[in-house]
Amino acid sequence: MANFFSFSRVNSFENCRLQYKYKYIDKVKSEVETIEAFLGNQVHEALKEFYDLVKNRVIKPKEWLISKYEELWKKNYHEGIKIVRNEYSPEDYYEKGKQCLLDYYEEFKNFDQTKVVKTEEPIYFRLQHEEREYPFFGILDRLDWNDKEKIFEIHDYKTSSTLMTQEEAEKDLQLPLYQLALQSKWPEAKKAKLVWHYLLFNKHVQAYKTPEQLEYIQEEMIEKIKQIESCQDFPPHKSALCDWCDYQDICPLWKHPKKMVALDVNEYKNDPGVKLVKEYSRLEVEKNRLNKMIQDIEKEQEKISQAALDFAQRENSWVIDGPEHQLVVTRKEELCAPTRREAKDKWEGLRQLLLKENRYVDVSTVNHRMLNRMLKRWPQEMIEKVKKHLVRRKIQKVELKNKS
Ligand code: SF4
Repeated sequence: MANFFSFSRVNSFENCRLQYKYKYIDKVKSEVETIEAFLGNQVHEALKEFYDLVKNRVIKPKEWLISKYEELWKKNYHEGIKIVRNEYSPEDYYEKGKQCLLDYYEEFKNFDQTKVVKTEEPIYFRLQHEEREYPFFGILDRLDWNDKEKIFEIHDYKTSSTLMTQEEAEKDLQLPLYQLALQSKWPEAKKAKLVWHYLLFNKHVQAYKTPEQLEYIQEEMIEKIKQIESCQDFPPHKSALCDWCDYQDICPLWKHPKKMVALDVNEYKNDPGVKLVKEYSRLEVEKNRLNKMIQDIEKEQEKISQAALDFAQRENSWVIDGPEHQLVVTRKEELCAPTRREAKDKWEGLRQLLLKENRYVDVSTVNHRMLNRMLKRWPQEMIEKVKKHLVRRKIQKVELKNKS
């Protein structure tokens, strides 16, 4: 089985490469079983036992199905089961499973729509591509023969809390590949009905595939396998699925926080990682405090600059004396590149001129700073042309200078 691909293997790679590496390359054993997976296993097993009887035309009442589920739940439940959503109890999950079996029973009540061929059937098949074969493994939940339509039906039970849309069903690879696998045994499987039972929603979605679509799906899966085989880099991928991952205890994104939860207060305080975070966050708070202070100081200086400009105007004094420094006020008019917002026509005129004269590339855009620099280098004739498109802007500034 070691080199067999499976849908859960491919899904694991697509969800998180690091999880894939732990599970399928490093083969790290995991004791964790989530309650969702446990619920799904008990529902699958109860339906398998029920349909094994249906196969022999023994239709047990719904009470039988529920007591089988209860028996399996009690027999298999263990302390290591992980409940991620702790607002729910194990009993809530038990009831959820029970309700979906009751709904399912009501939906198919007579169980005479089709003939059961196989239940929980392991299937091994090989995807062919050029000279290579890719071994694949899967478990088919139920295979039925629909005698009315003379086709096989491939049934898959889902206990996930998200419902597949018809569009998603059309893109699903799992059941079409099971169909391909079946064709080697039964040529009638060239046409088959694919049925996904979303048990928690009491809803099923179905689809049919043409031989061309099956061929395309096979190629798509081979592409995915090739990508997995050539992968050299297995980074972690944080997502909502991390809460259900078996490897949080060793994953670099979760390892330290998980370890900290188990420490007592003193151990926690003395942990070197915790100390680093505390020191870093202390400095971050300090940095933010100082930044805020600088902003406040700049606002104050702005007010004083304005007062110095008023003073300079009123007193006609452009150098204002102080104990160690002087404030030097400058007032002048400069020719500037217009902004698009202040003079759209001039801005566009300047841009066109620069383009026409092949000077646009020198300034990259109509940029005041770059234009000023270039105006010192361009020939006088060019400068005169540019000046016609510039605007006059009053410049006022206040600078603090040392007393000389
Ligand atoms: S915890 Fe999340 S990021 Fe880490 S290995 Fe698991 S899925 Fe990947």
